[in-house]
Amino acid sequence: MYLEIRNLKKYYGEGESRTEVLKGISCSIGKGQICVLLGPSGSGKSTLLNMIGGIEKIDEGEIIVDGKPLANLEKRELSRYRRNELGFVFQFYNLVPNLTVKENIEVCEYLSKSPLPIDELIKTLGLWEHKDKFPNQLSGGQQQRCAIGRALVKNPGILLCDEPTGALDYKTSKEILELIETVNKKFNTTIIIVTHNDAIKNMAHKVMKLHDGMIKKEYINESLVSAG
Ligand code: ADP
Ligand code: ADP
Repeated sequence: MYLEIRNLKKYYGEGESRTEVLKGISCSIGKGQICVLLGPSGSGKSTLLNMIGGIEKIDEGEIIVDGKPLANLEKRELSRYRRNELGFVFQFYNLVPNLTVKENIEVCEYLSKSPLPIDELIKTLGLWEHKDKFPNQLSGGQQQRCAIGRALVKNPGILLCDEPTGALDYKTSKEILELIETVNKKFNTTIIIVTHNDAIKNMAHKVMKLHDGMIKKEYINESLVSAG
């Protein structure tokens, strides 16, 4: 899926305490691109991600997904968008503790449009020998692999990742980033990643640095974009 964001604004609070936390964000993210959102804490990264995710209401401006403004979707269409088209990956994995790796992934297969048979997906994730373990028997990196599998099994058009390596050490972070890159290449998934991890820049087609609710810097990695 591709995204266009036009003059997007978001306010929190009422009256005197009303503050503008997104101050007119405009950008586009092409299908199959990886876009990284950097910026200090409080700059609006999560708010932007949540708005793309249909969780936060749009106050002003537009988010257009595959040519359709999100604000025009009826409630049912919006929940279908969220359920069928979006995959979410969080900092703290959010796996179901009493389900195994395989079960955690299968639970989200209800749409039966997995891009790969489950067993192959588990192998791609590097979790084959761990597939019958429970989350508390796994390392952080393995749990994140499982969470990525759970997000992917419904073959989302957009994968939204909020600090996916925030709880992981350097080496494991690198492995998770490589997995995300593999996913992007293999399934042509559009991926948006909020992170503090600068190492991620190299694999991104586009890097946007937010500051105080605005895009302060935007960098397009021409070599990746032209390579398709
Ligand atoms: P991070 O820096 O990891 O994004 P935050 O503390 O900024 O974490 O925010 C996490 C979530 O908590 C946000 O997405 C938002 O929904 C909520 N949140 C953040 N700040 C406030 C606030 N001042 N009042 C209410 N909810 C907030
Ligand atoms: P980041 O993800 O870059 O840390 P956020 O998007 O979480 O930033 O937050 C941007 C600003 O909006 C912060 O000042 C935060 O306190 C505020 N904020 C976020 N969510 C809420 C909320 N639900 N209610 C009020 N203020 C919020």
